[in-house]
Amino acid sequence: MHNAALAQLGLNWRYLAFDVDPAHLREAIAGARRMKFVGLNLTVPHKLLAMEMIDLLDESAAKWGAVNTIRFEARAETGEWRTFAALGDSISEEIRSHGFNTDADAIIRSLHEDLAFHPVGTKVLLLGAGGAGRVAALKLASEGVSELYLVNRTQSKAEAVAGQIAKRFSNCRAVVGYPKSSIDLLLNATSLGLKVDDSLPFDQDQFALRSASAVYDVIYRPAETPLLGAARVAGCRTANGLGMLLHQGAQALEIWTGKPAPLEVMRRALRKNVYGT
Ligand code: NDP
Repeated sequence: MHNAALAQLGLNWRYLAFDVDPAHLREAIAGARRMKFVGLNLTVPHKLLAMEMIDLLDESAAKWGAVNTIRFEARAETGEWRTFAALGDSISEEIRSHGFNTDADAIIRSLHEDLAFHPVGTKVLLLGAGGAGRVAALKLASEGVSELYLVNRTQSKAEAVAGQIAKRFSNCRAVVGYPKSSIDLLLNATSLGLKVDDSLPFDQDQFALRSASAVYDVIYRPAETPLLGAARVAGCRTANGLGMLLHQGAQALEIWTGKPAPLEVMRRALRKNVYGT
């Protein structure tokens, strides 16, 4: 989706994937900086590790405690820090890394766009308290969800997230466990569902899908996870995580280029790449 967008924007840039051992992340970031890469995206487990390795953290990264986008910036002759896109070919050797998080906004954008879900005053059951689950929980709490039920295989992690919400977003009641009444949204942020024969990511003795108006799965491959299939049969509105992937990428591209992302070009390229259609 990035290379399709770069072609559309007429930029002679390339988006490439590199497999980096977490033990060498610091060196990889330093190498990218020295080679004057415009920026980087980071994925699991680098998003948390990179927090300690970045010169300047944008509020988006500081607030959610994870970096998924780095923009390199160079000191201009006038003294201020400028993006490589703004500097063109005259990039000095004095370069800093600037860390952002585009995942949190992407979840909310995708929930609006794909499920017509608006968080204010809603009740949400969130499954998972790993990297994606934690950011989703904090962002939903900050966006006005009134009751947030948190369930995770390792309960202590859900308790830690509930504790952070209680401290930072007191308007949201965060409860570890299943809701007793109907909810507006069930959001799966566990990795259960990546395999077609995975079990459902919640305890069916404690919760029934017909109690949820909408179900979102952050997993996008397979397009319909066992959870989304069951939710569709139960009559829920459903969406998978492709929209989240699209929007975190589009926002990262805007951070690097300073230009509006060609969203429809990116959406088409992403669908073709992930689903072949
Ligand atoms: P983490 O490894 O940080 O977290 C994994 C989560 O899944 C934890 O809550 C973990 O529970 C739970 N889990 C894993 N295996 C099981 C199991 N067998 N039974 C019950 N729970 C389980 O990963 P991320 O949070 O980064 O990613 C989670 C999912 O989100 C992945 O499927 C990933 O592909 C997807 N994702 C999608 C994105 C998108 O753009 N659409 C972006 C980022 C992630 P425990 O804490 O007990 O280990």
